[in-house]
Amino acid sequence: MIELDGAVGEGGGQILRSALSLSMITGQAFRLTNIRAGRAKPGLLRQHLVAVQAAAQVCNARTTPVALGAATLEFVPGKIRSGDFRFAIGSAGSCTLVLQTLLPALLYADGPSSVRITGGTHNAMAPPVHFLQRAYGRLMAQMGADVEIELLRFGFFPAGGGEVLARVQPGSRLKPIELLQRGERTGGFAESFVAGVPVGVAQRELERIGSGMGWSGKQLRIGGLPNDQGPGNVLLLTLEHEHVTEVFTSFGEKSVLAETVAKRLLNEVRSYLKSDAAVGEYLADQLLLPMALAGGGAFTTSGLSQHALTNADVIARFLPVSFSFEQQAHSVLCAVRPW
Ligand code: AMP
Repeated sequence: MIELDGAVGEGGGQILRSALSLSMITGQAFRLTNIRAGRAKPGLLRQHLVAVQAAAQVCNARTTPVALGAATLEFVPGKIRSGDFRFAIGSAGSCTLVLQTLLPALLYADGPSSVRITGGTHNAMAPPVHFLQRAYGRLMAQMGADVEIELLRFGFFPAGGGEVLARVQPGSRLKPIELLQRGERTGGFAESFVAGVPVGVAQRELERIGSGMGWSGKQLRIGGLPNDQGPGNVLLLTLEHEHVTEVFTSFGEKSVLAETVAKRLLNEVRSYLKSDAAVGEYLADQLLLPMALAGGGAFTTSGLSQHALTNADVIARFLPVSFSFEQQAHSVLCAVRPW
């Protein structure tokens, strides 16, 4: 049994999620202690609890009893099976993080699957659905994964109630990719989605983005959503390059000016554009696991988080790969190699 300490490194939920995905795929059992010990509210929150239950259901695993707040988990996986799965987080916990736990495993199932998850679709500190579709999804497709992600309904903190549907076709082995340059810019646009929030907020955010990026017209899009999908406001900026698509996110908050929400986003986008890296920090976090499953690959990133380093350590406990991280003039080069 692989022993993992959830207090090590970044100490967050990614240690649990990566362990679940890789345990399902490799058939190796694990025991995780100090779950999310580095977080203000440690232990399993609803989103993590659902991730454990969902993973257990998909691979018929045996686990120690799991409950909210649990700090220890033993997970003994069975065989991954395909199916039409439905999971409800029952709060605004992130659907996308639960989905990201299951998607890699369902690529190894015995047939096509669908996964429908209700909860939060656009959460702070988690990939929004648009990021999964455009940024992560594009690279997964380049690696040969057949995954389709549909946003059925937005869900914001604190109300939740969003819904996402993914379809996964197994069969093709993930292929290594090398992503050293982003290439020429082929497109770019910003979207402000508002639900139960005045449309003027979206207009002001987009005006600020327009002046910051030199964008106008169809590059600035307001997404008016039904009030019952809110209240919530998310501002997304998508940059399409020859080899990669990036999605940057900022959330509207009570008592934060629309202009400030836009400025935060612009700062993030500028630091990505200032580097010559292919991918941003979040996409780097999320590329390590599929690249390790592919048995290799490399990318440059504008920033390497503690999160990514911790994730690399967890992955190397399950798979025969090693990681190297090399600071370059304007990026960090990450390589995944088989032993
Ligand atoms: P954790 O804090 O360990 O639960 O992990 C959070 C995950 O969410 C990491 O994989 C981050 O890369 C990801 N994440 C957080 N914010 C964003 C964002 N704005 N866009 C994309 N991914 C994000």
